[in-house]
Amino acid sequence: MTRERKESLETLLTHCGREEFSRLGVHAPPIDLSTTYPLPDLGAATASLDHLAAGGAEAPSPVYARLHNPTVARWESAIAELERAESAVAFSSGMAAITALLLAASSLGEARRRHVVAVRPLYGGTDHLLASGLLNLRISFADPESVAEAIEPDTCVVLLETPANPTVGLVDIEAVARRACGVPVVVDSTFATPVLQRPLECGAALVVHSATKFLGGHGDVLAGVVAGSEEWAARLRQVRILTGGVLHPMAAYLLHRSLPTLSLRVRAAQEGARRIATRLAGHPAIERVYWPGLPGADPEHLIGRQMSGPGAILAFDLRGGYEAARSVMGAVRRIVPAVSLGSADTLIQHPAGLTHRLVDPVARRAAGIGDGLLRLSVGLEDPEDLWRDLAAALELAGSASLLEPSLTSTPALA
Ligand SMILES: *Cc1c(COP(=O)(O)O)cnc(C)c1O
Repeated sequence: MTRERKESLETLLTHCGREEFSRLGVHAPPIDLSTTYPLPDLGAATASLDHLAAGGAEAPSPVYARLHNPTVARWESAIAELERAESAVAFSSGMAAITALLLAASSLGEARRRHVVAVRPLYGGTDHLLASGLLNLRISFADPESVAEAIEPDTCVVLLETPANPTVGLVDIEAVARRACGVPVVVDSTFATPVLQRPLECGAALVVHSATKFLGGHGDVLAGVVAGSEEWAARLRQVRILTGGVLHPMAAYLLHRSLPTLSLRVRAAQEGARRIATRLAGHPAIERVYWPGLPGADPEHLIGRQMSGPGAILAFDLRGGYEAARSVMGAVRRIVPAVSLGSADTLIQHPAGLTHRLVDPVARRAAGIGDGLLRLSVGLEDPEDLWRDLAAALELAGSASLLEPSLTSTPALA
């Protein structure tokens, strides 16, 4: 462990999860696509199965691919190393990971704990999962400041996102962990990645990622991962075995392949975001820009303390409201109008109409997700080219609302 602590993140990213390669005599992660494994020794096979079913990290035989896969396990060990966690458990998507951790927290252990404290805003899917009642949990939505008052005797986790989707607000993890009175705090760190923040070092019990975003980084893998103690990991593996939300080994291979460039990608995109956010802040069509790196946008000085940089996601409110936002989505030529984020290409989307569509409208507005809000995930293109594209789309949106004033009225978005 002392070796990892001395080496820089870039070195770790390039080598993590590859320790056994020289023993195996390979240079790239082997992909094991087996769904089942030969079991000539029934006694040994039963012992492997018992061990994996109890949440064990590995066994002499994987037995069956829903129980274990070595390609996936290799990427998990890489993520654990990056998050400075004992263990990490991979899932088929970020939502599968969040569902598994809620099931693990609420259903396993001696006493069932059916209450969750959640800090809004959250990713639309997470918010909807909690509010829908699907998992039969009681939810209290709280501000970071009022977490202590929201805790009940059977609260199983406090769930928060920082930076939060979509308005990139930062939450002080250490402060929330203090207020949680011993209840485990779970941080969705998708926007930050281990390059910018390590929530476990700030007092979180678990960190979760939609690896579909920056960790995958190329818009071609759907994945999720949870990192924390081995005790939590064992529970999560048990849930994964039973519910089947396993990560495909091809996806794990692609995720592992993306790690050596993670820091380069996040930092380059962050620099692009800096240039675009700064210009948007002075643009007449824009009412407000959300990016924690702007002056005054991080009053608690969490950047430098909790995060090493503000990241590559920003959002902005258009003065022209819904119609201006719709116009920009239709007018960008290089920027891709699409949901998701953290891809090599720059993506723009309308949270109220898309990613946060299923969030309760009142809560949505209270979280600052208005009809004129667009979220931009800055990619790796030259920021000057991106700005030219965005500025042209903003101009078009501005002149459209001048020429056709009727279009500026906001239609009801349920
Ligand atoms: C996308 C996202 C998720 C959900 O992940 P999927 O991989 O799409 O299931 C969860 N949290 C955040 C912050 C996200 O951006």
